[in-house]
Amino acid sequence: MAVTLIDGKAVANKIKVELHNRITLLKQRGIVPGLAVILVGEDPASQVYVNMKQKTCDELGIHSETTRLPADISQAELLRQIDRFNSAKDIHGILVQLPLPKHIDTETVIARISVDKDVDGFNPYNVGKLMVGKPRYVPCTPAGILELLHHYGFYPDGKHVVIVGRSNIVGKPLANLLLQKTKGCNATVTICHTGTTDLGYFTSQAEILVVAAGRPGAVTAEMVKEGVVVIDVGVNRVADSSTTKGYRLVGDVDFNSVSQKAKAITPVPGGVGPMTIVMLMKNTVIAAETLN
Ligand code: NAP
Repeated sequence: MAVTLIDGKAVANKIKVELHNRITLLKQRGIVPGLAVILVGEDPASQVYVNMKQKTCDELGIHSETTRLPADISQAELLRQIDRFNSAKDIHGILVQLPLPKHIDTETVIARISVDKDVDGFNPYNVGKLMVGKPRYVPCTPAGILELLHHYGFYPDGKHVVIVGRSNIVGKPLANLLLQKTKGCNATVTICHTGTTDLGYFTSQAEILVVAAGRPGAVTAEMVKEGVVVIDVGVNRVADSSTTKGYRLVGDVDFNSVSQKAKAITPVPGGVGPMTIVMLMKNTVIAAETLN
């Protein structure tokens, strides 16, 4: 059976249409959803992500303000910038682009974002809400992965989902999301990480396999079973002199070999990435709907 290519761009476009309608209704009430993005330093990948977020805001008619701060900014000044947006009436969502420079304590910064405007869902309060089964703002990448699975009819209910990676932005919140005792979740979840002995032993049991390791080729064909649904979250730059940029983007999964065995798989780029951005837009719309 031919493998299904899970098209994140197409699903994201469909969600954008729904969001556009919700934004129109808000505007009829005199409310323009507003997103503040704070970028510290000049990390090239972060700049690309921030530009894409701003472009999508423009496309949807969401007011966006991007604040670019120098890499050597003090933590106190960064916190002041967050406070400014916490009290700004025209801003409903605040996002601090990660990673932050080493001299800044990421936890302190994220905890400073108002829980009502925490559209990334990383504030410990919102992390806890998800953990106890009362999610408010679900982190964008896990939320996007779940939407993709649902869209293609790959419901996690009763399935064994194996996640490679336990980061606070992908692996852990996704596990908490899939564990919810609600329809559309309710999965049996295994999380793997660098402390896992024999990764392939676990990945080969997955009915749905999500890989968020940040390592190209972390999962190869011999590590998966026939008919698995694969969500490749990884975005890695590998040198490629045949491209104008000198690199190309690849995921964490060896696409060519794994797609021979999988029932469905996400490409990189064009899989999870567009979903992450559109879920950020969705959380911003939710914030505007609930804060007004
Ligand atoms: P991260 O914070 O570096 O976490 C990576 C996780 O993978 C860690 O838990 C690590 O284990 C685990 N890991 C690494 N190598 C492994 C291996 N060989 N075997 C088993 N586990 C391994 O990364 P992240 O922020 O979660 O991001 C992961 C990837 O997804 C990156 O490529 C990132 O660019 C991409 N990403 C994409 C999107 C998108 O929208 N497309 C969004 C977010 C992230 P330890 O905990 O033991 O170190």
